[in-house]
Amino acid sequence: MTDPRPFLATTTDFFARRHKQLIGGLWRDGGGAQIDVENPATGGVIGTATSATTKDVDAAVAAARAAFDGAWGALSAADKGLCLSRLADLVERHAEELAEIEVAENGMAYQLALGTLTGFCVPFLRYYAGWPTKITGMTLPGEPAMRPGFEWLTYTLREPVGVVGAIIPWNAPSSMLVLKVAPALAAGCTLVLKPADLTPLGAVRFAELIDEAGFPPGTFNLVQGGGDVGRMMVRHRGIAKISFTGSTAVGQEIVREAAFDLKRVSLELGGKSPVIVYPDANLDEAIPGAAMACFFMSGQNCMGGTRLFVEESIHDAFVDGMKQVTSFLPMANGMVDGALIGPLISAKQRARVQGYCDGAIEAGATLALGGVALDGPGHFFQPTIFTNVTPDMALAREEVFGPVLAVQKFSANDESAMLRAVNDTTYGLSGSVWTRDLATAHRIAKRVDAGQVSVNVHAAIAPETPFGGNKQSGWGREFGAEGLDAYLKTKAVTINLGPTNALG
Ligand code: NAP
Ligand code: MG
Repeated sequence: MTDPRPFLATTTDFFARRHKQLIGGLWRDGGGAQIDVENPATGGVIGTATSATTKDVDAAVAAARAAFDGAWGALSAADKGLCLSRLADLVERHAEELAEIEVAENGMAYQLALGTLTGFCVPFLRYYAGWPTKITGMTLPGEPAMRPGFEWLTYTLREPVGVVGAIIPWNAPSSMLVLKVAPALAAGCTLVLKPADLTPLGAVRFAELIDEAGFPPGTFNLVQGGGDVGRMMVRHRGIAKISFTGSTAVGQEIVREAAFDLKRVSLELGGKSPVIVYPDANLDEAIPGAAMACFFMSGQNCMGGTRLFVEESIHDAFVDGMKQVTSFLPMANGMVDGALIGPLISAKQRARVQGYCDGAIEAGATLALGGVALDGPGHFFQPTIFTNVTPDMALAREEVFGPVLAVQKFSANDESAMLRAVNDTTYGLSGSVWTRDLATAHRIAKRVDAGQVSVNVHAAIAPETPFGGNKQSGWGREFGAEGLDAYLKTKAVTINLGPTNALG
C-alpha cells in the first residue's frame, strides 16, 4: 500500500487552531483540563480541546434556554427549516474537510468518512429540514363523557420538549452529531452537545458551520469533556431531555441519574446483531455482505453483524469464502488511497479486543482467521473469524466493538433452535436475513427480536426509516417521524362550547 496522502491545507489549518466551546454564539475556552486528541492510525496528537467545568455547562444550558424562549423559539417553522437546509448545504460544501477530520480523530477510511457525510449526513439534514412546517396536532371528537349535553372542542399542540442535552460516542462522530442535531432542531428544541473526549474536533467544525448557517446564537451549544461533563448534563435541571448514544452500561447509569427530576431520556445503545444465512441465498452477495456487516468500521459499529448464523449445509464453504474476502479487505491509515478498514480507536480498545480473542480460544472456539493486533504505529487489529462458537461463550453474548466475528451453525430443519440462539442476548438492535425465499425472509424477519431487520443487506439505514434498539439496546427510535416525536410533547387544549342545544 502507498503512503497516506497529506491532509488538505484547510484541514491542517483547522487542526492548528485552538479548539474552543461554542456557548451562546461565542467561542470560549473550557475551564477544565486539556484534552489531547490522538490520530489512532499513527498515535500522534493532532489537536487539543479543553474540558468544560460546571460553570461552562451552566452557561451553555442558560444560553440554550434563552434561545429557546427567544430568537429560535420565535422563528417561523419555515425559517427553522431554511436554517437546517443551509446547514446541509454547508456540510456538503465542506464534506472533504469534515471527512479528513473524521479520518484523523476516528481512524475511519477516507472514502467511508466522505460517503457517510455526503450519503448520510447531508440527506439526513435535508430530510429533517422539511419537517418543521409539517408538525401538526389533531382535532378530537368533542363529546365530554362526564357532561352529557355539552360540546367541547379539543385539539392537540405538538410542542418542543425544551433544552436537549445530547451525548454522543466516538465511533462515527459526524453521523452521531447530525443524528441528534437535525431532529432536535426540526422539533424546535435547542441543544447542548458533548462529543466523546476521544473525538471532540469534528464537532467543533460542525459548530462553526451551524453558526455560519444562521441559527440564532444559543440554539446549538458545544461543550467538551469526558463522562464527568456528561454526568453534569444528566444532573442539570435546565435540561429537559437527554438524548444519548453510547454503551449500555453508561445508558443504565444515565437512567439512574436522570431519576431525580424525571427528565426525558432516549437511548441508542450497544448491539450484538445476527446475520442469518440460508443455503438458498445469493452467496456471491452474502459472503462479502456478511464480511462487511462485521468488519465495516473495524467492527466499531453498533449495528455490526458480529454473530453469523450459517446453515450447516453451506457452513464450511461460507466460512472459506469469508476468509478469502476478508483477507483482501484493505486495512491501512484512512488517508491511504483505497483503504477500507482503519485502526481501532485506542490502545485500550485494542487490548480489550485482544482479550476477547484470547478468551474465545480458551473457551474452545476455533480461530479461523486473524486474532492478533498488528505491530504499531496505530491501533490496527486484524479482522478475525471464530467458528465453533457456542451461545454461552462471551464472544456470542458481549459486545466486543472490534473486528471479531462469532460463527454458529444452524439446521434449517430446526429453525426454532436457531431463533432461540439468535434472540438469546440482552441486545436487540439490528439483524439481517439472507435468502431468496420470500416466505423465509418474512418469517425470520418477524421473529428476530430487534429494532431493525434487513433482508439481503445488513444495516439498511435511511433518513425516513425508524432505527433503535429492543431490550438493552435502547429506548425509543431515531430517524423518520418517530425520531422527531422523541423531541416533542403533546398538549391537549379543550374549549367548552356550552350546551349542545344552545348551538341550535
Ligand atoms: P460510552 O463509553 O458509553 O460513551 C458515550 C458518551 O457518553 C461519551 O460522550 C462519553 O464521554 C459519555 N459518558 C461516559 N460516561 C458517562 C456518564 N456517566 N454520564 C453521561 N455521559 C457519559 O460509549 P463509547 O465507548 O463512546 O461508544 C461505544 C458504544 O456506543 C458501543 O456500546 C456502541 O454500541 C454504542 N453505539 C450505539 C449506537 C446506536 O445507535 N445504538 C451508535 C453508535 C454507538 P467520554 O467518552 O468522553 O468519556
Ligand atoms: Mg468513552
